[in-house]
Amino acid sequence: MRRGTNLPAVGGFNQAVVLDLIRRAPEGLSRVELADASGLSSQTVTNVCRRLLEGGLVREVGRVVAGPGKPRTILDIEPAGGYAIGVHLDPSFVTYVVVDLEGSVIADSRSRTPTEVRPKDVLVSMQRNIEGLVDSSGIERSRLLGVGIAAPGPIDREAGIVDDPPLLTGWHRVPLRDALAERLALPVALDKDVSAVAVAEAWSSGVTDAGVLYYGTGIGLGMIIAGEVLRGSTANAGDSGHLRVSDGGPLCRCGFRGCLGENSSPFTMTRAAARRGLLVAPASASDTIGVDEAYSRLIALAHDGVPEALEVVLRVADDVARGLVLVANLLDVPRMICAGPFWDRLASVGLERIRSAVAADPALVAPHPVRVDGTALGADVGAIGAACLVLDAVYSPRPAALLLRP
Ligand SMILES: [Zn+2]
Repeated sequence: MRRGTNLPAVGGFNQAVVLDLIRRAPEGLSRVELADASGLSSQTVTNVCRRLLEGGLVREVGRVVAGPGKPRTILDIEPAGGYAIGVHLDPSFVTYVVVDLEGSVIADSRSRTPTEVRPKDVLVSMQRNIEGLVDSSGIERSRLLGVGIAAPGPIDREAGIVDDPPLLTGWHRVPLRDALAERLALPVALDKDVSAVAVAEAWSSGVTDAGVLYYGTGIGLGMIIAGEVLRGSTANAGDSGHLRVSDGGPLCRCGFRGCLGENSSPFTMTRAAARRGLLVAPASASDTIGVDEAYSRLIALAHDGVPEALEVVLRVADDVARGLVLVANLLDVPRMICAGPFWDRLASVGLERIRSAVAADPALVAPHPVRVDGTALGADVGAIGAACLVLDAVYSPRPAALLLRP
């Protein structure tokens, strides 16, 4: 049985169909065009459009003369018709965004994840940050549609629970969705971070087939196939940590060496740099501030051309490239998009190396080129994707969204 989240459906099936058609037409659509495209009767389209206009979700943006008869009124999305909040919880950073009905970011903020990651402290801090962001952006609270949260896996999506994320110490089956919904009196949806990033890419760029490498405190994989984000049977798809990408590297907890997650994490890079005497290693992977600072230091040294620093970064670039090749082979996708809080710094030194290593990799069997890009959405990408979960519930005519009820 397919089940939805607790997000409310803003309207019925026909309304979602009409809204989605309007959203996908950059110049807007007339009622006649909407009837043609939706297969709905002109009377139904007229009724739906009246409700959308009354609800402030669409606006009339002009008229066009098309043959004999009355000029046709063009309808477009009213960006200020509704807003969604996105929260991206990474063990190192929590990012917040407010997006309008078109998915454009109108406000954002970022804070470090509290080092004492007791769930209650994180909840209090989330509530304060969300309310602060909403207040400062001057949005009417009645226009808030809901909150989406992107969290590290594993998650229990049905129950809205963040299960046991390896890098969030002290977290065990935290009912984040319902706890935040109660505090904010808003509907809340929860998704795995890699899926949220994939949602953001599909929304913003319209990409229909791509793998999305999430390069954060941990490393994961989002998958977009035929325009849909693949989530797997329990919404925990995308664990790419144990892809074997080399025959060396630190011993992984799976018992092997050469795993993508273990070889390429920012923490591993800082330890490799420390062994070469470039910096002092952070005490552990859960020392997120220490890892972040040491990682920045390593990247700065690589920019300065320090050979040992370059060696560390480029070795990881090669491992990441092999990981991208394995995924591109598996999914048969022409694009790999990379994102996450540590990606920009890696890319500033290693992106060209990653691209050339992918192109030259003898393991690349896909019968087409594989393009590697960084996200165009920057560090907000996970939070934008989380907010788009809420917008998806507004627009999606898919059956799963029809089940969305408070
Ligand atoms: Zn492993």
